[in-house]
Amino acid sequence: MGEETATSSTGGEFSWQWARRQLDGLPGGRGLNIAHEAVDRHVMAGRGNKAALRCVAADLSVTTVTYGELARSSNRFANALRSLGVGRGDRVATLMGRCPELYTTVMGTLKNTSVSCPLFAAFGPEPVEERLRLGDVRVLVTTQELYARKVAERRDRLPGLRHVVFVGPGSEPNSGTLSFDDLLARSGDSFTIPRTDPQGMALLHFTSGTTGTPKGAVHVHEAVVAHRATASSALDLRQDDVFWCTADPGWVTGTSYGIVAPLTLGVTTVVDAGEYSARRWYGILADHRVNVWYTAPTAIRMLMRTTPRGSPPDLPGSFDLSALRFIASVGEPLNPEAVRWGEEILGLPIHDNWWQTETGSIMIANVAGERIRPGSMGRPLPDVQAAVLERGRDGRALVTDGHVRVLNSPEAEGELALRPGWPSMFRGYLNAAERYRSCFSDGWYLTGDIAKRDADGHYWFVGRADDVIKSAGHLIGPFEVESALMEHPAVAEAGVIGCPDPVAGEIVKAFVTLKPGFEPDNGLARDITAFTRRRLGPAMAPRRVSFDQHLPKTRSGKVMRRLLRARELGLPEGDISALEETK
Ligand code: ATP
Ligand code: MG
Repeated sequence: MGEETATSSTGGEFSWQWARRQLDGLPGGRGLNIAHEAVDRHVMAGRGNKAALRCVAADLSVTTVTYGELARSSNRFANALRSLGVGRGDRVATLMGRCPELYTTVMGTLKNTSVSCPLFAAFGPEPVEERLRLGDVRVLVTTQELYARKVAERRDRLPGLRHVVFVGPGSEPNSGTLSFDDLLARSGDSFTIPRTDPQGMALLHFTSGTTGTPKGAVHVHEAVVAHRATASSALDLRQDDVFWCTADPGWVTGTSYGIVAPLTLGVTTVVDAGEYSARRWYGILADHRVNVWYTAPTAIRMLMRTTPRGSPPDLPGSFDLSALRFIASVGEPLNPEAVRWGEEILGLPIHDNWWQTETGSIMIANVAGERIRPGSMGRPLPDVQAAVLERGRDGRALVTDGHVRVLNSPEAEGELALRPGWPSMFRGYLNAAERYRSCFSDGWYLTGDIAKRDADGHYWFVGRADDVIKSAGHLIGPFEVESALMEHPAVAEAGVIGCPDPVAGEIVKAFVTLKPGFEPDNGLARDITAFTRRRLGPAMAPRRVSFDQHLPKTRSGKVMRRLLRARELGLPEGDISALEETK
C-alpha cells in the first residue's frame, strides 16, 4: 500500500537498468563480475597506466599502483586461490591494514568468484574468531603479527580455515601458513574470469554491532551497479578525480566506497595506512590534491576539536586545500554544527548521507548543487523509494493484517523503510534466515532507524528504534539532544540515553565529553543543562548531565548508547565485540 505516497527524487532518465548499462559485463556475455568492472575494464580500454591507488605508508612514503598492475596482481592472486583448490562461493577473509595487498586480495578473490570478507584489523581475538566461524572462512589473508596475536591460539577451533596467508615484509610463514609474495610469484599473471552470475555472492560484511550482535550481510556481484551510480550521484565523483575515503575496509563504507566504487569509476584513490592526526589528514588532502573526500562525523568532530569555529583556522590554513570540491560523511548523525564548521573552516559544507551495511550503498544523500539543510541526511537518491512508517508500541513499524501505514504528514516520525529492488540490496544474513525475513513487511524493507521527512522531502534522522527514549509521553531521539549539547562551547561529543523514572517512564541523561580547557564541575553541568533547556524545552532537555572523556564507541566511531545505558543501569553489557578499546 501507499506506493504513490512514498517519495523518491527520481531525477531525469535515471533508473537502475540505465545504471547497469553503464557497465560492460564480462566479455562474451558471461555475466557481471565486480573485479572486471573495477579493474580489467579500464585496462582493456587503454587506461592501464593510470594510477588506481596511491598508498600512503605510516611514514608518509607513497606507493602508486596502476590499474594495469592491479589487474595483473589480482590475476595472480586468483590463480593462487585456484591452485589451493579454493573456488566459487568460498570465503576469503582479509585481516590487515590499508595496503596494496588488500586491493589485490579483494579483487583476486572476486575474479575467482570466491567471496571477499574484509575484517577490521583492530578487532580482538574473540570477534575475529566469531566472524571467521560465522562466515565459514576458508582462507585468511593477514600479517604474521596479527595472526600471532589474534588467530594462532584459536586455529584448532576453526577447522574450516584451510589456508592462512601472510602479507608484508619480514613475514616468515611457518607450518600451516603461506607467504603472499611466494604465492603470487608462483602464479601466472593472466586469468580469465569464469562466468559470474550477477546474483552470485560476492561480499560478506558484518554490521557494526552498534545496537546488537553483528550480523553477516550477504551482497552479490550486481551490487557494483549501485556502488558506481551512487558514487557519481551522492559523492559527485568523476573519472579525473582524486578520491579519499577514510573508512577502514573492515566496514562496509571502506569496501563499497574505499575499494569498489572509485575503482569502477576509474578514479585515483588515496589509501592511508596511518592513524588519524589532524596534521596528517590535512597534509594528505593537500599533498595528494584530493578532490572528493568521504569521511565520518566522528573524524569531523575530532578536527573540530583542534580548530573550533571562531578561532583562526591556523592548522587547516597552513595547508593548500584548494583542490577539495566535495566533502561527505556517513555512519552517524552529522550535527548541524559540523556542517557549519566545514563551511567556516574548510570553506565547504559537509554533505551528510545515509545508508547501512544491509543497503550496500548510499540511499539518502545531500547531493552536490542542492542547498544543504544542516542536520538533514538529504533526499532519496534517484530510483530509491523511501517512506516513514507508523510505529507500534515496540517502536518498530506497526503491521496490521500484513499491512503497514505510510505516514505522509511532514515531520511525522516513524520507522524509515525502503522499497527493495536496488542492486546492492543485501540478499540475506548469513545463517539467519528468520532474522532476514523479519526485516521485510508489506513489500518494504524496514531499516530499524527512526526518521522524519519534511515538507520538501528531506529526511531527518531521529534515532535507532532501539535507542529512542520514551519520556512523559514524548518519544525523544537521542541525536537531537546530542546535537543541541554539541552547540554548547564546552562540549566536544555527547551520548544520550533514557534512564527509568517512576513518574516519566524514562528521563533523559547525557554523557558529555569536554573540549580541552574546560573543567568538569557542577557549575558547568548546570550551565549545559540550562543551555539545552533553552534550545529544546524542558521535556527533551537532559535532566542529568555527567562527564565522560571516553564515551564507548564502536570501532567505526559510533557512540554505543546501549552500552552507556547498560553501564548506567548495571545491566549486562551484552555483545561488546565491536567496542573500540579506550586509549
Ligand atoms: P548493528 O546493525 O549491528 O547495530 P550498525 O547499524 O551500526 O550496527 P552499520 O550498517 O555499519 O551498522 O551502520 C548503519 C547505521 O548507521 C544506520 O542504520 C544508522 O543507524 C547509522 N547511520 C548511517 N548513516 C547515518 C547518517 N547519515 N545519519 C544518522 N545515522 C546514520
Ligand atoms: Mg544496523
